[in-house]
Formats: sequence, structure tokens, C-alpha cells
Amino acid sequence: MNIALRVDVDTFRGTRHGVPALCRILSEFSIQATFFFSVGPDNMGRHLWRLARPDFFIKMLRSNAAGLYGWDILLRGTLWPGPVIGKSLKREIKDTAADGHEIGLHAWDHHAWQARIDTLSAEAVRRHLRRGVEALAEIVSPTCSAAPGWKCTDDVLTEKERFPFVYNSDCRGASIFRPVVGGKVLAQPQVPVSLPTYDEIIGRHGVTRETYNDLLLSRILPNQLNVLTIHAEAEGISCRTMFRAFIEKALAQGHNFTTLGKVLCAASSVPPGAIVRGQVEGRDGWVAMQAVSGG
Ligand SMILES: [Zn+2]
Repeated sequence: MNIALRVDVDTFRGTRHGVPALCRILSEFSIQATFFFSVGPDNMGRHLWRLARPDFFIKMLRSNAAGLYGWDILLRGTLWPGPVIGKSLKREIKDTAADGHEIGLHAWDHHAWQARIDTLSAEAVRRHLRRGVEALAEIVSPTCSAAPGWKCTDDVLTEKERFPFVYNSDCRGASIFRPVVGGKVLAQPQVPVSLPTYDEIIGRHGVTRETYNDLLLSRILPNQLNVLTIHAEAEGISCRTMFRAFIEKALAQGHNFTTLGKVLCAASSVPPGAIVRGQVEGRDGWVAMQAVSGG
């Protein structure tokens, strides 16, 4: 089975430490993946504290967030302005492209997008995308994009059409489709994420680091889209050994890893579909989801 591997890079620390580590693991196994970079200010500390509600603290403890993200991330942007990732860490991004990975835009300001998407005007969405695309294009031109936290609206889908993205990966779902907005079928296909993320399942239903890889492998099924999102901050840093073991185990079971772009190229048809808001177990708030009838 082909597993399309997507690496989300949300923070300065993830870009600096997680990305090079993941590139080393992937090149060891000759795997090419799709990396989505955040290139503007790292205000993720602000984001994490904004979510400071009881259930959030429980999740922090369950997933050992301080160990997972590091205290510097938890505090970043709260006490001092966040550093601009695309200015300071050009080399890490350039090296990722040089390794043959596919490069896409995740965000200009990951925190601002997640916190304000519900109130952003179409113009503000366009500005955000333009700043991100321009900053990333100074290093390597992005060919695709993925909305932070799967926070994607009709305005986002429409605004993305102004940029030369071959495809986007903005929602959770089960098959590749072309989103319909206001009765119009858009040009840029969606490659949805089909598999859960680490922070969504660890600590739930008795899942531990020892059982995590087997659980994830059991979710990979034949004759369907398998798109996995890992995070530079998690699988690239604190879960690195576990992730390397996952790759080994998956390859031993006969799976192959590839980019989202290659999975799209191999798709026999890309039917129209709709994006709706839904909930994902283990994740806070709404996420964009492929409507079931659209699959
Ligand atoms: Zn992200």
C-alpha cells in the first residue's frame, strides 16, 4: 500500500531541529515526503495558552506537551515577539527541497490563522496566503498548501485559486476530490488527510508509545487513500525513535511511502465534492472535512 506522508512544520523549533532529523531518517530509507512549512512569526506559544481550558490541560498532560513541544514553544510569542521562521531558517527549508521532498505552504502565522480564521475577511486570508507564498518563494517555490489545523473555509478555498498551487490538503477525508464552492467546481484538488495524528490518539483508549505504531499500521488499508500527517515538533523531535520504528515496520509490511503530489498524479479520477465542518476525536474545535456524499 502507498502511504502519502505529510510533514507539518508549525514552529521555529520544529523547523530547526525536527526537519533536519526527519530528513535524515527519510533519506536513510530513500523516502520522499511532502513538507508544509510555516514561514512567518512563531507565535505558537500564544496559541497553546489561548486554548488554556481544563480539557486542554488534560490533553497537555496526556500527551506530555512540555516534553513534546518544549517549554520554549509553550512560551514563544507570549513573553517576547515570535521569530520569523522563513528569515532565520532558510537553510533548513532549502535543504529539505534539495533532498527531493515536495514543498508546500502551511502558514504565514500558524497561531493567527488558527485563532482568527472564523473572523478573517477574504482579503485578510489573501494577504496571509500572499505573505506566506512570497516568503517561502524566496527560499523555494511552494507547489501546494495545507491550512493550519485543518481550518479551511469557502473563502480560503476561493482565495487559494489565485495562487499557483497544484493541489491543497486542507481537510480530513477519504478520497481525492475537487471542492465545490457556490456551485462552482474549483480547479485545485484536495488531497485529504485520512489517518489520525499522534496527539489525537496517544493516551486515548489505552494507546501508549509502545502500542502506537501497531495501531497506526492497523488503520492503513488497501484500495483506499492513506495520507498520514506527522509533525516536525513531535515525530521529528520527541517521538523520533518511535517514528523511525514505524517506518521500518511499515516497509517490512510491504508499504511504500510517497508524496501527496504523486498520489494525486496516480489518481484515476478527481470527482467533485464538498467540504463541511466536523469534529475529530482528540482534536480541539472544528476541522474541515470532506462531506461523505462527496467521496
Ligand atoms: Zn500545523
